[in-house]
Amino acid sequence: MTLWRGLWVADLMRLTILAGFLGAGKTTWLRHQRHIGAFADCHIIVNEAADQAVDDLLLQDAARLSLIAGGCVCCDARDRLKRVLHQICDAQSTGQGPSEILLETSGLAEPAAIVAMLAADPILQRHIRLQEVIVLVDAREAPAQIGREPLCRAQIGAADRIILTKIDQTPQPLHALRLGLAALAPAAEVTGAVQGVAVDLPLLDPKAQPLRWAQASGEPIIAHTLDLTGVDWPSLSVWLSALVHQHGENILRIKGIVDTPAGSLLLQSVGRTIQPPEQRSDPPGRLVVIGRGTSLGALTDSLRLWAGLAAPD
Ligand SMILES: [Zn+2]
Repeated sequence: MTLWRGLWVADLMRLTILAGFLGAGKTTWLRHQRHIGAFADCHIIVNEAADQAVDDLLLQDAARLSLIAGGCVCCDARDRLKRVLHQICDAQSTGQGPSEILLETSGLAEPAAIVAMLAADPILQRHIRLQEVIVLVDAREAPAQIGREPLCRAQIGAADRIILTKIDQTPQPLHALRLGLAALAPAAEVTGAVQGVAVDLPLLDPKAQPLRWAQASGEPIIAHTLDLTGVDWPSLSVWLSALVHQHGENILRIKGIVDTPAGSLLLQSVGRTIQPPEQRSDPPGRLVVIGRGTSLGALTDSLRLWAGLAAPD
């Protein structure tokens, strides 16, 4: 039957765009979805703005996985995304394609720009149907983030579905936040999740006051990868806490696998919040720091100074 229909029109592959600001929990959510069997026959594309990707290590079990690192697929790495999608379309033409594609964007991506790229490409239009734009929103950080980051508002505005993450770490019932989100994305369905697991939200009180956000501007946000060679764990941990506490509003996200006396640990922070470390078997040694108005040189010098190493020439 599929063969017969295929004579007329190729089956379209469904594309889900998974977006959300830095640290919203996209990889955690995706890992759980795969654990419960969702996105099984799916080609997963992971995009990391940083040169060195961390998220792909977390999704290594995926049968079909493409990594686009060192650029954001909504802007500077858009052509690379197009090439990967074209390859998937070619595979589909020979009967080797997946039924679904999931694109996990970097935290810096605007979904609307990706949707526009899809719509403008005749090959992609023939093979791919946009299924859904899912935007993850960190319930704890969102009230501040949405006010500060125009990008965060743009992401929310593009959502078909908003998933509020980390709702176990915020006072319930989140009426003000949910009404504020509804003002930014009136048509989006809003659900909740903890560690990727769907959680029911209480009934929304329409009489509550919605959160309102003032307009904000910002310096460019840049992702840096720090080389941890020679940096010992005690120095690194103290340096990280100092960095986060003194510059939390400009250090948006830290993520990396580091070597500690307890083995390889995945370290993450979002704003000033440091998340509990997670045991990992992946090789350590790199740390991604995403900040506003930060320079790699300044971060590296400060870390090496702290660790008692000579500054690089
Ligand atoms: Zn971009």
